[in-house]
Amino acid sequence: MNHSPRLSQKITNIAESATLKVDARAKALKAEGRPIISYAAGEPDFATPQHIVEAAETAIRDPKNYRYTPAAGLPELREAIATKTARDSGLDVPASQVVVTNGGKQAVYQAFQTLLDPGDEVLVPSPYWTSYPEMIKLAGGTQVDVFAGADQGYLVTVEQLEAARTEKTKVLLFVSPSNPTGAVYSPEQTRAIGEWAESHGLWVISDEIYQNLVYGETRAVSIVEAVPALADRTILVNGVAKTYAMTGWRLGWMVGPADAMAGAANLQSHLTSNVNNVTQRAAIAALTGDQQPVEQMRQAFDRRRHTIVTELNKIPGMKTPTPEGAFYAYPDITGLLGQEWEGITPHTSLELADLILEKTNVAAVPGEAFGPSGYLRFSYALGDDPLLEGIQRLQRFFGIG
Ligand code: GLU
Repeated sequence: MNHSPRLSQKITNIAESATLKVDARAKALKAEGRPIISYAAGEPDFATPQHIVEAAETAIRDPKNYRYTPAAGLPELREAIATKTARDSGLDVPASQVVVTNGGKQAVYQAFQTLLDPGDEVLVPSPYWTSYPEMIKLAGGTQVDVFAGADQGYLVTVEQLEAARTEKTKVLLFVSPSNPTGAVYSPEQTRAIGEWAESHGLWVISDEIYQNLVYGETRAVSIVEAVPALADRTILVNGVAKTYAMTGWRLGWMVGPADAMAGAANLQSHLTSNVNNVTQRAAIAALTGDQQPVEQMRQAFDRRRHTIVTELNKIPGMKTPTPEGAFYAYPDITGLLGQEWEGITPHTSLELADLILEKTNVAAVPGEAFGPSGYLRFSYALGDDPLLEGIQRLQRFFGIG
């Protein structure tokens, strides 16, 4: 008789993606007829630009796309990604150092699997995206949080990182622009953190999925551009989902040193093989075609960013720093806790998120999904009208407006 637990420890130890869970709940309530306005998923409301869709239409009629391609991706796409990486991340790499993945998520997962052994520590600036902890656990690593709150613009310092570093620290996870906070490290801060990581021989996994969604004068400088010496120990993660409104197409990539990319491609060859060829062809059109639609979407996000920050900041008890990138506003809502609102007294951001969903039909993701309680994440990648209406509902609920 085998007495092992029914399911593996590693599966028992992970939870469902909190962002996808809140999004699914909001969509289900909407389907039931509730007038839900959802700020939950980080998903552009725009259609994928037409020329990308047309490239996919052409591709689906071409029998060569009905076959396997190399697990690491179509050579033309890997070339296009190498060109984009040189342009936007300041890193010259051959196409052989690119692995095309099923969304940015698979790229992050494979990066941790490629680098971590049991006991290795990963420094994770917090608040952090909901899937990182589970991916680190699945790779046998140990997450070490480095917290930066709204008072420091959600940006960790070298001193904080150094205080968290031990002999076991192997990887720094660097995310700029950040999901969930929208914070972007300045070129100087990026260089200081990169030089620190370099001097201690750390690996860096740099999640650059929001790299092209920055506003005003801000530029999200890649950590390998700021510190070229890091290139031999950095894995860049990126994808088309956010920039090109292609979340459902599932196409991401990783770029890094030859040995790490060969290892990741081997892993992928046993896991998913190549990404759907039609999607790969669409991604070539996205990266090499007209970038004007991207600029129009970016300008729309910028406009919505101003609206949401201005309106959220009218609610006493919410402190919303102005995000410089991505499409999330991340207010500190501790000022709203411990008070009674229509008969309910929330003590955590989880309870506050439930309260506003119940009473105002507004869905936001609670801070608990991203580490510490005390925050709500609002995606502003939704239409201008619902965006304003949802916040006005909150203003009325919390007694203003
Ligand atoms: N990355 C997006 C978000 O944070 C999409 C959902 C997910 O994959 O977590 O909302």
